[in-house]
Amino acid sequence: MRIILLGAPGSGKGTQAQKLVDRQGIPQVSTGDLLRDAVARGTELGQRAKVAMDAGELVSDDIVLGMIRERLAQPDAANGFILDGFPRNLAQAQALDGVLDELGAPLDAAVLMDVDFEVLLKRLTGRRTCSGCGRVYNVHFFPPKTGDVCDGCGGELIQRADDNEETITQRLKVYESQTSPLVSFYEDRGKLKVVPAEGEIDEVFARLEAALGVADPA
Ligand code: AMP
Repeated sequence: MRIILLGAPGSGKGTQAQKLVDRQGIPQVSTGDLLRDAVARGTELGQRAKVAMDAGELVSDDIVLGMIRERLAQPDAANGFILDGFPRNLAQAQALDGVLDELGAPLDAAVLMDVDFEVLLKRLTGRRTCSGCGRVYNVHFFPPKTGDVCDGCGGELIQRADDNEETITQRLKVYESQTSPLVSFYEDRGKLKVVPAEGEIDEVFARLEAALGVADPA
């Protein structure tokens, strides 16, 4: 299965992609995670990307496309992949078509995770991630039992650098202007599926699996 998860920041792409990884045994390819990793390692690419990320702007297409080409050529992506946070604009979507043509690996679907604007804001401002195990919480929707401490491993919960109000506003604007046109791009190609993505994580996942035609018959 080769799919794209489309949707605004905070629409739950990463959370749902992780659940699909567990179920389908194919990798999640998140350009946001790849970029954050490069920033944390202090590579030259990471240093170039950090400025745009901190401002809530898109990182340049050449950086992101280079990373994607390399990642999709890895052996574990041969049986499929879940693209999370890529493509983010029309130029990236067109470039992806070219990469997939070269690999002889056509896309099965682009799934839009559909969430109301007010809910997006709460999800983004409330998001906290465990610095130990990576578990994600939300102070509005599913807070930890005590303070800023992970229920699972006791690690400290931290806020992503770009989850502050100013950057969030900019990321949502960038989504509207640059990424949302991809909805009609994939609709025109007959690849679009829309999943209502508010509510419990497991409910959303059930809708996602149904949309992809991989739901359990039980
Ligand atoms: P995400 O974790 O997907 O919300 O991405 C965090 C940040 O990384 C974004 O706000 C962008 O600055 C950058 N980023 C992630 N994916 C892309 C992409 N496909 N193209 C350009 N910038 C990206």
